[in-house]
Amino acid sequence: MPPRVVLPDGVSSVVFARALAQLRKVVGPEQVLVDREALLPYEKLMLAAPEDEYAPSGAVLAATVEQVQGVLAVCNKYRVPLWPISTGRNFGYGTALPATRGQLILDLKRMDRILDVDPVLCTALIEPGVTYQQLHDHIAERNLALWLDFPGGGPLVGPLGNTLERGTGSTPYADHFAQACGMEVVLADGRVLRTGMGALPGSRSWQVYKYGYGPYLDGIFTQSNFGVVTKLGLWLMPAPASYRTVLVQYPDDKGLEQAVEAIRPLRLAGTIPNPCALSNAALALTAYTRRADLYQNGGPTPDNVILAAARQHGIEPWNLTFTLYGTPEQIAPNLEIVTRALEMSGGSVDADHRDPSQANELNLDAFHLLDWVGGGGLAWIAPVSAALGTDAGRQRDIARSVLGQRGFDYLAAPTVYGRDLHHMIALVFDHGDLQAVQRARMAFRELAAAFLDNGYGLCRTGIDYMGALASAYGDTHRSVNRALKRALDPNGILAPGKSGIRS
Ligand code: ADP
Repeated sequence: MPPRVVLPDGVSSVVFARALAQLRKVVGPEQVLVDREALLPYEKLMLAAPEDEYAPSGAVLAATVEQVQGVLAVCNKYRVPLWPISTGRNFGYGTALPATRGQLILDLKRMDRILDVDPVLCTALIEPGVTYQQLHDHIAERNLALWLDFPGGGPLVGPLGNTLERGTGSTPYADHFAQACGMEVVLADGRVLRTGMGALPGSRSWQVYKYGYGPYLDGIFTQSNFGVVTKLGLWLMPAPASYRTVLVQYPDDKGLEQAVEAIRPLRLAGTIPNPCALSNAALALTAYTRRADLYQNGGPTPDNVILAAARQHGIEPWNLTFTLYGTPEQIAPNLEIVTRALEMSGGSVDADHRDPSQANELNLDAFHLLDWVGGGGLAWIAPVSAALGTDAGRQRDIARSVLGQRGFDYLAAPTVYGRDLHHMIALVFDHGDLQAVQRARMAFRELAAAFLDNGYGLCRTGIDYMGALASAYGDTHRSVNRALKRALDPNGILAPGKSGIRS
């Protein structure tokens, strides 16, 4: 294959060649990739956008903090924009690709040491390239009674990248950033910042107390481009003595409103300790069948077709799952309370369900939804609302109508985390079909705009929508982020465009 011709914005081929030569000295010649073939693994974009708009100029694989510092020095000198990734999956949000064309990917997968797992304090300290599978295996090998909470990408992705994006999972530790404790960040100028108690020389409490002294800085390194995170502390859940996963099903559409109203007080009281995800029939059905087996016409699959197929697999219009953890003695009274409340809300309760993600079993189940139409296209849209039945219902109606007009099925898992509800919607399409990509692109933009117009902000988005979403959050929000960017990365070399932030 011919060499790449993608150059970083404003960097000539001569200057880029000089930068690459110096980067080879920093990380070794074989760790700087510019050939098309070598870059292919980075270039699969699942989003509804032309891949070419996000083509990287190359990739550089650093293995140590010193190498990250060396790479930053070269990139500052030659003004080469650098897009850091950890395990680089970011499924449905942009995979490994940068927010703008021509950035050099800083791939940290070689930094994959588990630096510490403390079974007494139930904490871990990891590097960017560590995957959930690796951490799971480490815990199993040492026979430690610790559980992991992982996102939909399961074994393939890693805690550091997912936490920086404020990803979520399915156990009581589902809010990954809330369970993070202490970061090491290489700033654009090469200085190394340890946050929280990590800033104190000789500190022995980096992974147990988050706030340290003074402003709590960790938040500004999430969903941002202010530094390269090279270590992350995590809290791990002590393995519970036992658990019961509960499935609650609602026979019609208003089950969504009814369930949300019933769940909120149970979540706020802590009776249900983990997020409550409500899969709709279409999403749950993706585990068993493909759309083409049910319906071959254009437009969204009719509700009665979905429901008839769903019921063959024991799926109802809304399917709620959660888990109670603890000793059988602890679980029994809570199960009684939740059963009563959820039955009163119109649900039928099965307290012997199985959901591996709520029980520390790594799995690839989330990928079933890609089989619904095939072709690998996936974009997530997750508007946030208050955990109120009326809001959940409104979001459902908006999504169904906007997606339906573009011929897409509404595949959704509105999830009550606490006071907040994230209406997880998967827009799936055939990425190999240009027309489908175009249609999905329009559907995505229309749906996101409809949510924003109704006051429902998205809490995470793909590289193709970051600028638009940042604009929706207003000028003051943008200008404060820009001031931070200029202070911490004056040359604007780190991930320009990430979360819509540029210097
Ligand atoms: P995962 O494979 O777990 O989905 P990624 O490694 O793809 O996670 O990271 C998700 C996003 O987080 C990336 O696109 C990037 O914007 C950001 N990111 C990842 N790792 C780092 C890091 N070490 N420092 C700064 N930002 C990062």
